[in-house]
Amino acid sequence: MTFPDPDRMLGCLLGGAIGDALGAPIEGRPIAEIRAKHGAAGLTEYSDARVRAGAVTDDTQMTLFTAEALIQASIRERSKGIGGAAPGLLQAAYLQWLRTQGEEFPDQDFGGGWLFAQPEMHERRGPGKTCLSALHTIAARRRPYVPVGGIEEPINDSKGCGGVMRAAPAGFPFSPRVPGGVADCRRAAFAMGATSAALTHGHPSGYLSAGVLAATVWGLLRGADLADALDAARTVLESYAGHEETSASLDAAVALARDGAALTPERLETLGGGWTGEEALAIGVCAALAVRDGAPADVVRRALRLAVNHSGDSDSTGSICGNLLGARYGTAALPGHWQAGVELRRVIVQIAADAALEFGPDAPTDPTTDDVPMSWHTRA
Ligand SMILES: [Mg+2]
Repeated sequence: MTFPDPDRMLGCLLGGAIGDALGAPIEGRPIAEIRAKHGAAGLTEYSDARVRAGAVTDDTQMTLFTAEALIQASIRERSKGIGGAAPGLLQAAYLQWLRTQGEEFPDQDFGGGWLFAQPEMHERRGPGKTCLSALHTIAARRRPYVPVGGIEEPINDSKGCGGVMRAAPAGFPFSPRVPGGVADCRRAAFAMGATSAALTHGHPSGYLSAGVLAATVWGLLRGADLADALDAARTVLESYAGHEETSASLDAAVALARDGAALTPERLETLGGGWTGEEALAIGVCAALAVRDGAPADVVRRALRLAVNHSGDSDSTGSICGNLLGARYGTAALPGHWQAGVELRRVIVQIAADAALEFGPDAPTDPTTDDVPMSWHTRA
C-alpha cells in the first residue's frame, strides 16, 4: 500500500495528543517529586495538576496547524499544478497559532481556516520560548507567506524541541505513484519535517530531529514496523550536514531500548532531558521501542507512561512517543478512556478525516468542472 492508512493518521494525531496530555502535568518535575506525589510507578493517568485532566499543550496545537497547512498545500498543488507552497503556508499557520496564544503582533493577512475558527484552539498552553521569539521576528516582516528561516538560512541557533514536537504530519503526504518512488517519497517527508521545524529552529539538531520523526511516521503509516521505519529514516538523516548529534542520540536511544522492561526513568534520563530536538526524539523513540511484549493496547499504555515519567520535558517526549505508536498501531491500540478524555478530540478527528481525504486515493475534485475545489476545505 502506498497511501497512508487513515486510521493510523488519526492514531498518530490522537496518540500524540494523549502523550502530550499525560505528560503535561509533570513537565520538568524531578522524578523523585513525581514518585513522591504519584507513587513508585509515577504518573499513570491524566492528572488535573496543570490545567485539567486530559488538557493538551502547544505540542498538539502546533501539530494540528502543521497538518492543516499541509492539507492546504496539497489542495493548492493539485488545483494549480504548482508545488512549493508548503513552507509559506506552514509559516502562516504558525502565525495563526501565535495569535491563538494571545500574542500581539502587527496586523497582517496570515490566513486562518477551519482550525483557527475553532474556539477551543484559542488557549494559551505553555508556548515554547523559541517558537514565540522566532514567530515574532517573522511577524515583524509582515510577509506571512514568505519563509524567513530555512535549512540554508537559519533563523537562529536554537535546537529546542519545538520543531520536532509538531512535525509528525509531515509524514502524511508523499505517496509514490510507482514502487521505485518509495525512497524519494520518504526523503520528501524527511525534508518537509525538517523544513517545517527550520522555520523557527535553526540548529541542525532542532530541524533534523523533526525530519527523522516525519520520515519514520511516513513509513509507519504505510505499514512498516517501528524498527524498520526508524532505520530508513536514519539513513536519510545521514545525508544531511550537521546530522552527527541527532544520529548519535538516535543510536543511544536504540541501544538503551534493549533494556526492555528493565528500563528505568534514571536510565532514560541518560538520553538527556528532552528539552532539545534530538533528546526529545531519542526519549520518545526509546520508550516506543523498549516496550515490546503484550497486546498493542498494553504496549501503548506502558510505553506512554515510560515516555513521560522522567525529570525532563514530559509532554513533548510523550507527544512524540504517542505520534509514533499511534501511527504504528492505529486507534484500536490507544486506551479508550485516554481517547475519550483527551482535549481537542473533536478537532483532531476532523483534521485526521480531512488528511485521509486529501492524502488518500480519492482526493476531492469537483464533478461538474473537474477542478480541484479549494472550497472543500474552507468550510467554517
Ligand atoms: Mg508543550
